[in-house]
Amino acid sequence: MTDNFDLEHIWHPYTSMTQPLPTFKVKRAYGATIELDDGRTLIDGMSSWWCAIHGYNHPELNQAVTDQLQNMSHIMFGGLTHDPAIELGKILLKITPPSLDKIFYADSGSVAVEVALKMAVQFWTAQGQPQKTNFITTRSGYHGDTWNAMSVCDPVTGMHQIFGSSLPNRLFVAAPQTKFHEEWNPQDIAELEQAIQQNHEKLAALIIEPIVQGAGGMRFYHPEYLRQAKALCEKYHLLLIFDEIATGFGRTGKLFAWEHAQVEPDIMCLGKGLTGGYMTLSATLTTKHVAETISRGEAGVFMHGPTFMANPLACAVALKSTQLLIEQDWQANIKRIEQQLSQHLVPLNELDYVADVRVLGAIGVVELTFNVDMKTLQQQFVDRGIWIRPFGKLVYVMPPYVITQQELSDLLEQLVEVVKTLQGAH
Ligand code: PMP
Repeated sequence: MTDNFDLEHIWHPYTSMTQPLPTFKVKRAYGATIELDDGRTLIDGMSSWWCAIHGYNHPELNQAVTDQLQNMSHIMFGGLTHDPAIELGKILLKITPPSLDKIFYADSGSVAVEVALKMAVQFWTAQGQPQKTNFITTRSGYHGDTWNAMSVCDPVTGMHQIFGSSLPNRLFVAAPQTKFHEEWNPQDIAELEQAIQQNHEKLAALIIEPIVQGAGGMRFYHPEYLRQAKALCEKYHLLLIFDEIATGFGRTGKLFAWEHAQVEPDIMCLGKGLTGGYMTLSATLTTKHVAETISRGEAGVFMHGPTFMANPLACAVALKSTQLLIEQDWQANIKRIEQQLSQHLVPLNELDYVADVRVLGAIGVVELTFNVDMKTLQQQFVDRGIWIRPFGKLVYVMPPYVITQQELSDLLEQLVEVVKTLQGAH
């Protein structure tokens, strides 16, 4: 099944070139179906890592790309502008926190994070506090693979050991411990409070994924953490950055995860589902205050400007994807998925090698007591006609929102069967 050229020459995410993991060649994808080259079909449980919220090959999204293609696929954003960027901007400002007012488009989630961090540093420099250059974050976070994004990822499960002293040193506190549905434990914020109190003079911002820590462990934490974190940022003069790259566009049951806490950040990063998974695009949004302060600074400008900034094709499809989402009863649909995820997955809690089962919005997570063998498990899933890519101790799903009730039942039944066969595998 694995293509030989691919195996020998093409790197895949986080894999070895001498011992590459098998890959499955895809011919096409539509709705929540992935069709392999050999004709087999798989029900998609991953939305291509949070992205394909409306599924694949969506006629309206296809049309948006086709229409835009007739005008231009790309045009430089220095000195020029276009409707896709403008119309997308208008809709984004309507659905994100009211205090956010300025938008910076870039090419990927990691770059959106770089942009957010740079905004924070330029903001404090312009405020006459050039010593405020460092960042604080929680453990178990994930913010991307570029240099500074990597520096604020979890220092253990992240890539810190490999890159050692070449990475800037950030301040880390324990990950939030109180779970989303638990009663808030006031002790949960103590370490962050102490760290900010002691280091605020050097800190530009706190960066955090609101409510759901994604690739760092698929953890769902209590909204009170965000309310208290915001209060600390205000008290000690830190900007608050929300990385909503994974949590955005309905995935957690709210359009954006900040709404669970009703806490507005100073800077917010969007990506992934922004284009419905059609192509890469990100947006970093900030307040008038932050933007105007940066613009008053010595540099007088914000120092970033990627070649593919606000790519028109990407903006056009992002606009259509966002319209599609908000024009439907997406809340009811996510509830439907949430209920089905709970119904199928929660009983797995009975197994002694299942450490935890958790569901929030259209995210379902089964945490095992041991690390899974990704290669074997993935093959088993494919053999049963489903696409799920586990990592570490986690078997998790975040299906496209268009998945039908029947498809989701089939997906989850197969997932449950496979997890049950793991008895004795550890
Ligand atoms: N932040 C979060 C929360 C993410 O989940 C990701 C992607 N997994 C990123 C940032 C980085 O996005 P990208 O892979 O598009 O660079």
